[in-house]
Amino acid sequence: MDYNTVIIGSGVAGMTAAIYLARANISVCILEQEVPGGQITRTSQIENYPGFISIDGPELATNMFQQVQQLKVPYFYTAGLEIENFPDKHIVKTKDQELTCKNVIIATGRSPRKLNIPNEEKLIGRGISYCAICDGGLYKNKNVAVIGGGRSALEETLYLSKICSKVTLIHRRNDFRAEEELVDEVKKQQNVEVLTDRTVVEFTEKENRLASLITQNNDNQEEEIEVDGCFEYIGQVPNTQNFKNLDILDEEGYIKVNHNFETAISNIYAIGDCVKKELYQIITACSDGVIAANNIMKQ
Ligand code: NAP
Repeated sequence: MDYNTVIIGSGVAGMTAAIYLARANISVCILEQEVPGGQITRTSQIENYPGFISIDGPELATNMFQQVQQLKVPYFYTAGLEIENFPDKHIVKTKDQELTCKNVIIATGRSPRKLNIPNEEKLIGRGISYCAICDGGLYKNKNVAVIGGGRSALEETLYLSKICSKVTLIHRRNDFRAEEELVDEVKKQQNVEVLTDRTVVEFTEKENRLASLITQNNDNQEEEIEVDGCFEYIGQVPNTQNFKNLDILDEEGYIKVNHNFETAISNIYAIGDCVKKELYQIITACSDGVIAANNIMKQ
């Protein structure tokens, strides 16, 4: 066997599992096609992870990755494209290698959901973004919109309000999913306008860049809002398309697991945001990683 355990994905869940396994002297590697940290690399300020009153998402990701590196966990910059399942082992296929292992931990997280409206695909990177912390700096003293009513949309609206001259938050309902205190904090900002009961139905372009959003209210009345940038925060979809063949996904594409984070297939675990669960927090993702690792340590 190449490794006892192959972890697919290096978000906080995958990195935590790797730290526990490596410290228990179990041979483990991580596959990752993007940067270490997953979703927290797209989060500005984290204020609910114990031990840090406030920390930047990318900084927390870097800290965790340094811990993984210090433990000398092999790290491959590649995607886990397929898992082949045998009675006594699993094979994880990547673009250029096949890794044989006893256990697989799937920790592939989720990606931003898209609106799927006219001109969206074309204007990604040309005004449309899914990451305020990555791209917010491009809109210094400019007008931007944020779409969504969850915690991400509200937190990133606050973040952008400190950089941009105006932020228009657009939500399709009047009630927000984010906590009241956060909503109140956003509404207090002088340069934030909150528009509710509106959906964005189209993006317009000018010279190959985003020019405006067309919104529609509950009476189907349209309004055009000119912006320099638009940040979509309308939820997430699980990154599980490579595991469809294993028959472990629910109807929404989340991986089904038991309380030990075991899938229906022996020695294949799934942790973090790719799993269907009640809470999607950094600390619960870390906890999933510890529980899966602990099960492997007991084998
Ligand atoms: P979310 O809570 O699922 O919110 C998504 C928002 O987008 C909702 O307000 C939803 O509207 C709206 N939406 C969905 N599809 C839409 C569409 N097609 N058009 C327009 N609006 C649409 O997603 P999230 O904010 O990304 O948060 C995901 C999870 O991560 C949550 O559990 C959240 O608490 C957690 N989170 C935690 C932290 C933290 O702990 N610091 C930070 C960020 C997120 P409706 O409300 O009408 O459905």
